[in-house]
Amino acid sequence: MIVDYHMHLRGPNVPGVEGAIEHSVEAVERFVETATARGVDEIGFAEHMYYFREVEDLLVHPYQRSRIAHGLEAYVAAVVEAKGRGLPVKLGLEIDYVPGRVEELAALLAPYPWDYLLGSVHIVDGEAIDMEPGLWARLPVEEVWRLYFEALGDLAKSGLVDVLAHPDLVKIFGMRPAAEEVSLRYEACAEAVAAAGVAVEVSTAGLRKRVGEIYPAPELLSLFRAGGVPVTLASDAHVHQDVGRDFDRALELVLGAGYETVTVFESRVARQEPLA
Ligand SMILES: [Zn+2]
Ligand SMILES: [Zn+2]
Repeated sequence: MIVDYHMHLRGPNVPGVEGAIEHSVEAVERFVETATARGVDEIGFAEHMYYFREVEDLLVHPYQRSRIAHGLEAYVAAVVEAKGRGLPVKLGLEIDYVPGRVEELAALLAPYPWDYLLGSVHIVDGEAIDMEPGLWARLPVEEVWRLYFEALGDLAKSGLVDVLAHPDLVKIFGMRPAAEEVSLRYEACAEAVAAAGVAVEVSTAGLRKRVGEIYPAPELLSLFRAGGVPVTLASDAHVHQDVGRDFDRALELVLGAGYETVTVFESRVARQEPLA
């Protein structure tokens, strides 16, 4: 089974340009069409939590605050309706790690029928990892990496999420410490994630960023495999044309690391299905 569990629901778009946010069944259908054409059996939506008014009090970063404009009800209703019509879709959300606010966020999200929650570290210490200048302007590369993986480990242990999104996002701009230090970060990360019992996604989104690599790096994925950490597959599509994009390369990486199954979620319960 092939899943793509990370995409953002958008309306029609011209090639290469993100469409407007459109939380409707018609928008879901467009993403399903691309999935079918690419041999993806099931897709899951994971809209950014920072688009939603319900979590407004938790958001501090100016970029995230500038995006607040939607209600969770309409988003959830569109995906649930599509699911009810028999489309192979799952309901998720991409959550930002906000230290100290985990219980509050869990309570806000509890009323909705999530199939899974993705956890992301985009912001550390009030500054962005995946935008420039962001935290990069303030701290040396080694320190950005250390803080990023520390936050990711804390997020894994928080119990808030089921899957860690783009686990080594910190490499997005191709800036990294010496190889030895990178390995230390990977080892600590894999240990924390394995102990937490969450899954990680293998995301082709990094191929479309400056780094030009899949998240996570082969070395980190091998450590996850050795620690018994399960995987999902992800495109992080913001346009329907990107659903399942470059999955041949993701599969090559996942199979090469020794994985034989992919994680499928339903109502936040995980099961393993053969990768084929
Ligand atoms: Zn993300
Ligand atoms: Zn995303």
